[in-house]
Amino acid sequence: MDFLERIASAADLPREEALLVGSVQALARGKIAERAQGYDAAGEFPWDNVRDLNALGLNGMFIPEAYGGAPCSYAAYLHCVLAISAACASTGVIWATNFHATKPLIDLGSEEQKRRLLPRMAQGGLAALCITEPSAGSDATGMATRMTARGDTVRVNGGKTFITNGDVADLYLVFGKWEGLGDGKQAITALLVEKGTPGLAVVRKEDKMGHRASSTCALSFEECLVPRANVLGQPGEGLAILLRSLNRSRPSVAAHALGIARAAFEDAVAYINERKQSGKRIVEFQGIQFLLADLASEMALCLAWLWHVARLVDEGANDMGVDASVLKLRASDLAMRIATEAVQLHGGYGYIADNRVERLLRDAKITQIWEGTNQLHRQLIGRSFVAHR
Ligand SMILES: Cc1cc2nc3c(=O)[nH]c(=O)nc-3n(C[C@H](O)[C@H](O)[C@H](O)COP(=O)(O)OP(=O)(O)OC[C@H]3O[C@@H](n4cnc5c(N)ncnc54)[C@H](O)[C@@H]3O)c2cc1C
Repeated sequence: MDFLERIASAADLPREEALLVGSVQALARGKIAERAQGYDAAGEFPWDNVRDLNALGLNGMFIPEAYGGAPCSYAAYLHCVLAISAACASTGVIWATNFHATKPLIDLGSEEQKRRLLPRMAQGGLAALCITEPSAGSDATGMATRMTARGDTVRVNGGKTFITNGDVADLYLVFGKWEGLGDGKQAITALLVEKGTPGLAVVRKEDKMGHRASSTCALSFEECLVPRANVLGQPGEGLAILLRSLNRSRPSVAAHALGIARAAFEDAVAYINERKQSGKRIVEFQGIQFLLADLASEMALCLAWLWHVARLVDEGANDMGVDASVLKLRASDLAMRIATEAVQLHGGYGYIADNRVERLLRDAKITQIWEGTNQLHRQLIGRSFVAHR
């Protein structure tokens, strides 16, 4: 076992969790990895992978027992994100989005909401998290979707863009502004919208550089009528819900990026151990070894920080936004760097679609953009040092 395998190992987890992670790793390295190139080339949603993950009851690992789940630690969840994303980044983000969109309901939903909506998710439902709008990206507080109370219902009007799982979700967690609370961030409200609600429509499915098997959609809400009972928390509490949920989703996005990085590193190392030039294997050139040392040590440090953040979450820490930003920033920059170097180490063959590194490079790019662009994370980290006088 090399030092990277040691630091990525799930051996520290409780036995039951380690067994589940082992099953997910086996599925990922087997069937999911084998199907990845075909799904990417076809741009087709990987239903086979979703079915296989559901056969392991994988959504259940983040859903309380009372609603049909079998909860595990956050560390175990991150191990699964990493393994699935290393095999097929599209499948990784599809599954992780279920967690990102459902976790606020688990943590903050009413008993009635959880009893009504969580069993479907525990049985393998898909979920979507709807924040971004055409003119509200990095600054989500600029969102313009309106929610208007009318007796027992809420009327939703507006549009969301770039929504992962947008055309396949059973449950949508939608953020918008509550009529009567003004136009600022104090009006932001979180609302649970079920599949098939009249007025919710998929406007467009995006044609993307990477993650081509996951679906990314523009959605419209036109006079969309949702039961008032589906408001998560109280009107106006949406921003607090959003910020809290980012502390859980950003480490997950980092694990996803590290999965891509790990796959690219493994492919590069395997290739340069075989490929010879000037009578030597590429891996024997000292300049290449220096590069491997830099990439592997950076990866080890990112993984160590991943488990540090996982521990904070499992211990119930709330004040961990900067820790999560450091992780998201470094993991995604590393994914892009390793994927780029992996293509370089394959020479011209790295540019050819037959080689997995070509896909990994395309998949890596978005990790620097979503869940807060890396410029935004640099600002959040830097701003944390400003003394409040
Ligand atoms: C494949 C994919 C899947 C996605 N999935 C989801 C999803 O499921 N749900 C969801 O809600 N959203 C999702 N998104 C949206 C994603 O989170 C946004 O694209 C991201 O937050 C950036 O917003 P934007 O694209 O509007 O860029 P903009 O905010 O317009 O940024 C453009 C550029 O300006 C920079 N910039 C912006 N503000 C500042 C500043 N203050 N200082 C310095 N630089 C700045 C940015 O860093 C970026 O480089 C997804 C996007 C993609 C492409």
